[in-house]
Amino acid sequence: MTDKTTILDCYTDEPAGLGVPPFVGVWPRYVAGLHERQPMYLAIDDLRWLRYRECVPQAVIDPPVGRTHIEAMNHTRSPDEIRRVLQEADPLVVIAGVQTPGKYLSARPGTLREVNKLLASLSLRKVLTGPVLTGGTQVRGGLRPQLPQAGDYEELRPFVFDSYEQLQPHALRGAGLIAQMPNMANRIVEIETGRGCPREIGCSFCTEPLKHAVQWRNADHIVEEVRTLMGLGARAFRLGKQSCIYSYESGDPQKIETLLSRLAALKPAVLHLDNANPAMVDAHRTELFVKYLTPGSTAAMGVESFDPKVAGANNLNCTFEMAFEAIRTVNRIGGFRGENGCHALLPGVNILLGLAGETPDTLECNFAALKCLLDEGLLVRRINIRQVVPFPGTALYEQAGQKYLRMNRRHYPAWIERVRREIDMPMLERLFPVGTVLSDLCSEVHNGGTTFLRQIGSYPILVAVPERLALGERFDVRVTGVLPRSLTAERIR
Ligand code: SF4
Repeated sequence: MTDKTTILDCYTDEPAGLGVPPFVGVWPRYVAGLHERQPMYLAIDDLRWLRYRECVPQAVIDPPVGRTHIEAMNHTRSPDEIRRVLQEADPLVVIAGVQTPGKYLSARPGTLREVNKLLASLSLRKVLTGPVLTGGTQVRGGLRPQLPQAGDYEELRPFVFDSYEQLQPHALRGAGLIAQMPNMANRIVEIETGRGCPREIGCSFCTEPLKHAVQWRNADHIVEEVRTLMGLGARAFRLGKQSCIYSYESGDPQKIETLLSRLAALKPAVLHLDNANPAMVDAHRTELFVKYLTPGSTAAMGVESFDPKVAGANNLNCTFEMAFEAIRTVNRIGGFRGENGCHALLPGVNILLGLAGETPDTLECNFAALKCLLDEGLLVRRINIRQVVPFPGTALYEQAGQKYLRMNRRHYPAWIERVRREIDMPMLERLFPVGTVLSDLCSEVHNGGTTFLRQIGSYPILVAVPERLALGERFDVRVTGVLPRSLTAERIR
């Protein structure tokens, strides 16, 4: 019997690993690699696009006025082809799971409810896989997770492997799936370097320790996969599928250097990293990342809370002092400007609201710490503030659930606004003073007469240019001003 498996990518966002465009996640690639014959690939955008065109035959993704339809812009084929692929799909393997929900500029992950609705009229054998099977999925912070309902899928199929030797043939074979993904010239491919959390007991809210025991993937496997992906046209990569890149191979600097030097020798256009545990950040390893990565990379540090009571109650991974020391170290070594206009390597800070033990004083404590960063003259590329989603299986779910979110939620909007105005804006003025030239930004979406652009990378700054530029192309800009989480700029090339 011919294998007619079709993948439906609803996109994934996990504590370790991002698969929302422009990122290409590992899940669809690995799942594709399980099959001898390459599966067809659809994105959730295809289902939406089909529905739009059935309702409004002349609908377009990027109308001349108004906003680009980001929810359908990553569709992979025409409505007729989407219909044909769906008719032949057997089974349709749905990949879903957003567990660290964020704001996405040019894509919208699919929810279980939405997928069920969009597929309701089709008679299809459906299989569900992805992070959703460990704790559920939720695209909005502070809400309860959606869990798969019995009867919606013929099968819930976890994707498991015992060792990276076992995974490797799937990873290599699945790399071919990127040929079916749109806009690959402007996508960045997430690369796995390890799984699980090296800490004995993880943070209260995190799903990563529930999924895997700690394993590191050896450099041969990683380099082989990146080389294969480059052979298929990929040019930008992020070492993002791991809980902490500084902990790679137990933090062994020699092994980190071997991996980085071999990857850099392949000359990708972008080589960035993600997650860094502040407790593991030191000068030697930071020097290696600065030496081998391309500029504009962000070491996102999951500080989560600067309140020692909250840190204790949730078993968070670093103290106030550790976080500051790590931020200083990355600033000292990575805080110079690279050829694309961005600093070589900067820290990012993640703050999580709604953790156990949180009080209004926690917000004050967090604000005071962020203000100290600013007053000390440090550079922080971005401060990511999220409301926690208590996922089943985590200590937070068992011990507190939504209790602290309910108690404190009313304080969040004003506090976030204060951080954006009093910390973010002066920080952005420091990072990108008026006149700074940023190169090679991709034009991603329109809103009225404004085009929003970003460089391809880990956490690129959002730039608004007051003219309607063709989408999917590259431009250089000069900064003209600062908005709460973005810049204004004029196009120079
Ligand atoms: S350190 Fe905390 S947030 Fe990071 S992977 Fe471990 S449990 Fe998750």
